[in-house]
Amino acid sequence: MTTPIADPAADLPALRVAIRAWLRDNATALQPFRHEVLGSMHDMQVHTRVFQRMLFDAGWTRLGWPAEFGGVGGSAVLRAEVMEELAAAGYCIPELLATIEIIGPMLIKYAPHLAARHIPAAIAGDEVWCQGFSEPEAGSDLGGLRCKAVPTDGPHGAGFVVSGQKMWSSYGSLAQHVCVLARTGEAGYRGLSMLWVDLEQPGITVVPTMCENGREEVAELFFDDVFVPRDRLVGPEGAGWEVVMYLLQFERGAFAWKRQAELHTQLQDLLHEADPVAAAAHATTVGEAYLALFALRSQAGPTFAMLESGAALGPGISVDKLLLGATEQSLTDTARTVLWPALELDDTDSAARWRRRWSYARITTIYGGAAEVQRDLVAERLLGLPRGR
Ligand SMILES: Cc1cc2nc3c(=O)[nH]c(=O)nc-3n(C[C@H](O)[C@H](O)[C@H](O)COP(=O)(O)OP(=O)(O)OC[C@H]3O[C@@H](n4cnc5c(N)ncnc54)[C@H](O)[C@@H]3O)c2cc1C
Repeated sequence: MTTPIADPAADLPALRVAIRAWLRDNATALQPFRHEVLGSMHDMQVHTRVFQRMLFDAGWTRLGWPAEFGGVGGSAVLRAEVMEELAAAGYCIPELLATIEIIGPMLIKYAPHLAARHIPAAIAGDEVWCQGFSEPEAGSDLGGLRCKAVPTDGPHGAGFVVSGQKMWSSYGSLAQHVCVLARTGEAGYRGLSMLWVDLEQPGITVVPTMCENGREEVAELFFDDVFVPRDRLVGPEGAGWEVVMYLLQFERGAFAWKRQAELHTQLQDLLHEADPVAAAAHATTVGEAYLALFALRSQAGPTFAMLESGAALGPGISVDKLLLGATEQSLTDTARTVLWPALELDDTDSAARWRRRWSYARITTIYGGAAEVQRDLVAERLLGLPRGR
């Protein structure tokens, strides 16, 4: 491993100077990472892993993770700033870093022994993780999930036998590990536990799902009497609801920060690629997309810092999720208008990229909690309005 050059004691201005110098010094080697890869999930992983490894070796993506979890220490806000600088300089933040931002804090808080084993490998790009919460009849209402984990103390030792189905697992086709929310006890929210499950073992079948954006973005996971040792519990048995609520704060908050950085780059791309006359003709629409982005950024920055401080954000995190979905759709709808009809009809990589971005934006009001449900949470729990039903 090369010596990291990222300094965990740096303040934000010093960090910006250092990473800009690193990007300048490595501009030739970094050139391939300026655009999303248009191929399959596998193509994406092969491509971005190289960039992820370069960032790891230089220490940029190890900032904010404690040394015992493979990091170089300092505040996670430094890592947020790194993402911003990468995007501002026109690079694609390695896609699989998002899962680590979402799942890593949960492992550190509830299963530090698993965090010490798996976070270093994931940051280095050597491991991929996914989430197994949703089921065919339990998405918005996870309290109704049926995948069960039956406690056992058999020939393999103490643990759980897991059986059931999960679906919509992002990166499920690439992952080696999944955090599974399973029923270990009574019906409802109290009978759930979170387990860390090795996907590369007998009894597990992974079926990738081809999505409208042309990638196998998600997968179905089938568990057929899979033994999971007891030390793979994330948090206490029966505490699965608390654990998943903790994780969802990062999915709705930390992820929104990463995306706002990327969406700023996409807006710059749009203004660069568009015919100036067409862009001027739709100035109001472009302005609205910019304002949506500004609102998202204003919300997501403080959220990232509050998550770092350990604050419990409660239903307020739904605001970040709603702003993210609205901004993704506003920006890509704007691109569709400004680039018409190229976005629909052209064969260029640029048009293909915008088509993929537009399709991806449609799902941002579903994953991580459907927008309708988030609006209910804001209405009832933040604003104190009466329940609609
Ligand atoms: C691309 C993608 C990636 C995903 N990645 C993952 C992942 O990695 N891991 C994972 O576990 N899950 C993942 N999901 C699943 C996602 O979290 C669920 O799809 C989402 O929570 C909605 O659940 P559902 O699909 O069961 O729809 P349902 O809950 O059946 O909802 C259907 C419709 O009813 C509405 N609705 C439901 N309940 C209410 C309510 N109380 N008030 C108002 N309206 C309501 C919803 O808004 C929605 O429009 C992903 C989904 C997508 C599309």
